[in-house]
Amino acid sequence: MRVWVLGSGSGGNAVLLEAGESRVLVDCGFGVRTLAARLALAGIAPESIEACVITHEHTDHTKGASAAARRWGWTVHASRGTVAHAPDLAGTRVHAFDAGASLAFASLDVLTVRVPHDAAEPVGIVATARATGARATVCTDIGHVSEGVRALCRDADILVLESNHDEGMLRAGPYPPVVQARIAGDQGHLANRFAASLIRDSATTRLRHVVLAHLSENCNRPELARETVEREVKRTVYRGAVTTARQREVVGPFDVAGGVEPRQYSLAI
Ligand SMILES: [Zn+2]
Ligand SMILES: [Zn+2]
Repeated sequence: MRVWVLGSGSGGNAVLLEAGESRVLVDCGFGVRTLAARLALAGIAPESIEACVITHEHTDHTKGASAAARRWGWTVHASRGTVAHAPDLAGTRVHAFDAGASLAFASLDVLTVRVPHDAAEPVGIVATARATGARATVCTDIGHVSEGVRALCRDADILVLESNHDEGMLRAGPYPPVVQARIAGDQGHLANRFAASLIRDSATTRLRHVVLAHLSENCNRPELARETVEREVKRTVYRGAVTTARQREVVGPFDVAGGVEPRQYSLAI
């Protein structure tokens, strides 16, 4: 199992999962040109992608999905609530599922789990490679740590988890009170502090990679998110790196088998 974070944040999200014959994209919040450029940095041909699973209808997760699916022959999967509320997916044939469903692809299974966020039927996912049992979790856009979120993060080999904001920076930041309340609310985005304690509680000896995602550009700093998580993670069995995904960089590969060091690749555009 290998994971690439092709970009992460409110400007667009896409995470590529690779296992055996399967390449599955989780979210497609970039237009086709920038997505192609990001995939090229990872050395991946867009037409080799089997399917795209959309976590929820917000544009930073759906923007390019329809055009990319048409151009490269992907199947698109999204929850029924997402399909009903995603103008970006209109005109595309989408395989609709109920949150909680399991999706079977050529070499991996993707379990969807309902997460708390201000969208119609948002999900996080855990992908399992059928041949090896390796597990990768992608869980962003979560307002709080629900039982579902805990279940998603349990026993992961690769954990991609939202670490959206620092609470002090959010209070002192540029957003009006109503937006601050939305971000910090139960259906908003996860603060560094809560990401840190969730990772502390979830880390097991099988955990190989921790990737912090969907960082706010206005109310967070990568070093701050990393330090907050590292402080808690030090108290666990996990001795690997804590990596921050970026909006304008591709980062990966995160490989369960090891042997390759993940790197950050900057976009020329
Ligand atoms: Zn988002
Ligand atoms: Zn969202």
